[in-house]
This record gives sequence, structure tokens and C-alpha cells, in this order.
Amino acid sequence: MVKVKLDAVVKQYDAMDEVTLVGYKHGPALDHVDLEIHSGETLSVVGPSGCGKSTLLKVVAGLEYADAGHVFYDTYDMTQIKPQDRGVGMIFQDYALYPTMKGKGNLAYYFEQHSHSEEEMEARVQQVADRLGVDFNLLLGRMPDTLSGGEKQRVAIARCIVRDPVVFLMDEPIVNLDAKRREKTRIEIKKLLRQFAITALYVTHDQQEAIFMGDRIAVMRSGHIEQVGTFDELYYTPQNLFVATFIGTPPIAVIPVVLSSAEIRIVETAWPLPLELAEHSQQGAASLGVRPSDWQMDQADGIELAIRHIERIPTEQATFIHGVLPGDIHLTVIAPLDFPTRQAVKITPNWEHVSLFEAQGEAVLHTPGIPDLFD
Ligand code: ADP
Repeated sequence: MVKVKLDAVVKQYDAMDEVTLVGYKHGPALDHVDLEIHSGETLSVVGPSGCGKSTLLKVVAGLEYADAGHVFYDTYDMTQIKPQDRGVGMIFQDYALYPTMKGKGNLAYYFEQHSHSEEEMEARVQQVADRLGVDFNLLLGRMPDTLSGGEKQRVAIARCIVRDPVVFLMDEPIVNLDAKRREKTRIEIKKLLRQFAITALYVTHDQQEAIFMGDRIAVMRSGHIEQVGTFDELYYTPQNLFVATFIGTPPIAVIPVVLSSAEIRIVETAWPLPLELAEHSQQGAASLGVRPSDWQMDQADGIELAIRHIERIPTEQATFIHGVLPGDIHLTVIAPLDFPTRQAVKITPNWEHVSLFEAQGEAVLHTPGIPDLFD
């Protein structure tokens, strides 16, 4: 197991130096990225398309080289080392199995190429297959074109693991599977990563997948790492509005407010400044973040939410109320399942749970903090 460290890594693709046809110049794909993947942990990297996730993975793998900065595996500087000499295992969306070999041949191929003994190969393949369970042993006797997408990906992952990689790198490995197989395969990948305690980087655009797979999650935007932390850290202590809105479904409501030393105002409605915000507040415009579950309903001093659509979710024992506040602020409130159908409801933020950001959302002023519940 190794620790992977990126130290001020910059990667700029040549094509990006030119101004594009629409006259927009891109920044670097990676812009002074500092990141540490702890030994044995799975770090998910999540962010919108084009934010640099794949480039980050490629720089760790050596498929792309950093223009500046360093990549370390433990204390070894790997920045200029070729990919084949880094000992990484990689899984991409396409399984790339050797089509003319059965499952077992796919696992064994590496050993044949690297002149290991037959016994060594058999022992290692069996060890990994046993950990993967009885049904995986059946896959070893089948040709790739008789396997489903999920089964192919299981063989591809096993093929990676038998080689004993020091770091396991996965780029959207289950994006091509249907929803049911995705669920099953992600549970299996997570189990394997735990069992073999491999240091892993898991790239995805899907926040649910990132949360499920990662011991920690790195949120990226435009070549920058915005925040790295556990799900609770990102959810309860986001460092800016981008992270706050990226993590959580339905998303946090972002509401422009005006603060004074005495009150907080949303459009025409003002409340006395809550104690929770008093010590952090700045005067003037700010952005308030309220999660869908953090509204109190039917409060006399509430602000009126015009209800546009009511969605009952029996599996969650909840109703999602989609509505609009004065000032054309769209948001979702989570209410109990028996919330009666109606045109409007008066709501007040649950001040204990709100976040506050400076007006543009780039800096945080106050977060609710991680609840004691989880200690
Ligand atoms: P993501 O994985 O988050 O979708 P990428 O790392 O693939 O993002 O891309 C980051 C940025 O680098 C994007 O603007 C993308 O268009 C650009 N890019 C990626 N690969 C290349 C390449 N080979 N040549 C030029 N630009 C590239």
C-alpha cells in the first residue's frame, strides 16, 4: 500500500493555448493541484464534465505528464516515470478484455508475459477468485463475448487485482452498465477495495457514486480541487457554494439575503438576526444556503412559498414540495408524507442548520457543523 501525493501539479494541453473559435480561452486542465490519497483509502474525485478529473487520474498513472509540480508514491518522485513502471492498475468504462481468452486466461496473461511460474499464477488467480465468491469462479471458464457488461467488468477488475497494483485507478468504471448492474457492481468493487486494502482513485461525475465509493471525496471545478473530505465534512461544512450545491439531492437552496446587525432579510421578509449567525455575519449582501430538510413550515413569521408541484415519495416517507419564493427563488422543501395538497405554505429556515456564504459564494461565512449525532 502506498500513499499518493500530488504537489502543485499543473497540466496544460497544447490545444488549450489557442483561443477557440468562440473566442474563449481555457485555463489549464489541472491548475496547481495539491492532493493526497492516504495509504489504503479510496478517494473519489467528482465534478462536472471537463473539470479535469480524467486528467488528474492520467497524471497519477503516467499516461499524461505534469508540466509542473510533482507526483509522489510514498517518498518516491514518480513525476517522470513511465506508466508501465509505476505498478498501477487501471479500469476504464470499456472493459478491454482479451477477446480470444476465457476469463481465467485474461487473469493469467500477465503472469505468462512476466515469466512467473505456473504454480504462482494458479495460486494468485485462485486467491483472488476465492475472494470474489463462487459465482465468480464460474466466469473464469467463459469467453468474454458470453459475459454481460457487469460480468466483464468483474473479470477486468479481477485481472487488475491479481497483478497486485500499488495503486488502483478507476475512471467511470460502471457508467456503461444499466442501473441495476451498476448498483451490484459498485457494491462489489467497494468490497474488493476493502478486502485488498488497495490505495485507489475513483473518478466519476455522479455524486451518489462518489459518496458510496469514497472514504473521502475530492470535489473539482475548472482544474482546481475545491474541497476534500468525508461526505459529512462536505455536506455540513462546505467551503464554498459550489461544493454546497454539488453535494446533496435535492440540492441546497441558495437565497440572496441582506444582513444588518439586527436582522436578516429575504426580499420583503425580515427576521431578527439569529444567534447562530450573529458572530459570523457581515453587513450587506450575502448568500444563505438552506437544505431541503431544513425548513420549518406554517410559521407565523414565515415567507410565502408558492407551491408549483408536490411529489410524494412513499419509500422515504416524505413529500418533496417544489415551489417559488418572492424574488423568483426556486427551491424544494422536504415535508412529511401526509403534507396536505395546497397552493402555498409559509416557511422559515431552521436557523440552526443554515450555511452562509459571501454574496458570490466563493467564501464561506458560517456552516452548521457536523451534528453530534454521528460522533
Ligand atoms: P473530465 O474528466 O472532468 O471530464 P478532462 O480531464 O477529460 O475532464 O478534461 C479537462 C479539460 O482538458 C477539458 O477542457 C478538456 O476538453 C481538456 N482536454 C482533455 N484531454 C485533452 C487532450 N488530449 N487535448 C486537449 N485538451 C484536452
